[in-house]
Amino acid sequence: MHIAKVYEPGKIPVSFETFPPKGEMPVEEARGLMAGLAPLNPAFVSVTYSAGGAGNSERTVDVAKMGQDEFGLTCMAHLTCMGATKESVAREFERMREAGIENVLALRGDKVPGRDADVFHYAKDLIPLAREAGFCVGAAAYPEGHVDCLDFDASIRHLKEKQDAGAEFFVTQLFFENDVALRFLDAARSAGITVPITFGIMPFMSKAQLTRMIFMCGASLPSPIIKLLNHYEDDEESLRQAGIEYACNQFVELGREGVDGLHVYTMNRADIASAVMEALRGAGIV
Ligand code: FAD
Repeated sequence: MHIAKVYEPGKIPVSFETFPPKGEMPVEEARGLMAGLAPLNPAFVSVTYSAGGAGNSERTVDVAKMGQDEFGLTCMAHLTCMGATKESVAREFERMREAGIENVLALRGDKVPGRDADVFHYAKDLIPLAREAGFCVGAAAYPEGHVDCLDFDASIRHLKEKQDAGAEFFVTQLFFENDVALRFLDAARSAGITVPITFGIMPFMSKAQLTRMIFMCGASLPSPIIKLLNHYEDDEESLRQAGIEYACNQFVELGREGVDGLHVYTMNRADIASAVMEALRGAGIV
């Protein structure tokens, strides 16, 4: 099923992000996760792509195929183009097609030292190829602007270019303040971005994970989270619970705002996805 079709007026589709396990048998290891996610009836499950190194892309496609074939999920394969060639991208598309995958999140990926971007400079260079190859294509959006882009207005212009290149929906980077997301939504709509924007949220699990995330993606850290980190400094489990609760509240609030979609960065934990679904059900959003 093409993911663009899950976004309907009056409905808030909830989707989950997963990553291929790093072990020797990623499909086998991911099976338990998919078994935990499937009963929650997500609109789709996305599987991230790790650029660089043999076998990585296979992992993404294999895990997505298993989710579809064995659990009846609609899966989306992420694909980055930094350092890729037209031929390598065509091979990826062929593998996806053979696996029955219809949805691609087209990304530039992070810059790889020593790998030049001679063919694909930005995600917008990959998007039209994915559309021509017959995929339903999503792309990434950044409520606080991309970490490498100092000018928020330019970030919005770059997003519009991805829509113009053929992106049919956007999935956002994580953020910890809903006001930021809603201001971004206004800016995107004012700039002529009309495709669905689904908001991605990741619960914080520890101070170390949170620090890594905010430096990697440039998300602002609001004062209530800093207070929680201080309050639960010596109690890891309570901090984890507080992180899940904080994320659930973010999801519920955005659901009440009637956003196009909600995306859970599950970190491969079905219990996180389940907690979010329970909160959304409790609030009558799903
Ligand atoms: P682009 O949209 O190409 O943007 C990259 C940078 O270039 C931005 O700073 C942008 O503002 C700038 N830019 C764009 N167009 C122009 C232009 N015309 N002129 C000048 N500057 C321009 N990474 C992975 O490796 N694997 C994954 O599976 C993965 N999944 C992700 C899923 C989501 C939902 C998100 C939000 C991110 C994901 N990422 C993933 C991270 C992503 O690869 C990085 O954020 C990467 O640095 C940018 O990718 P992009 O597709 O957004 O790039």
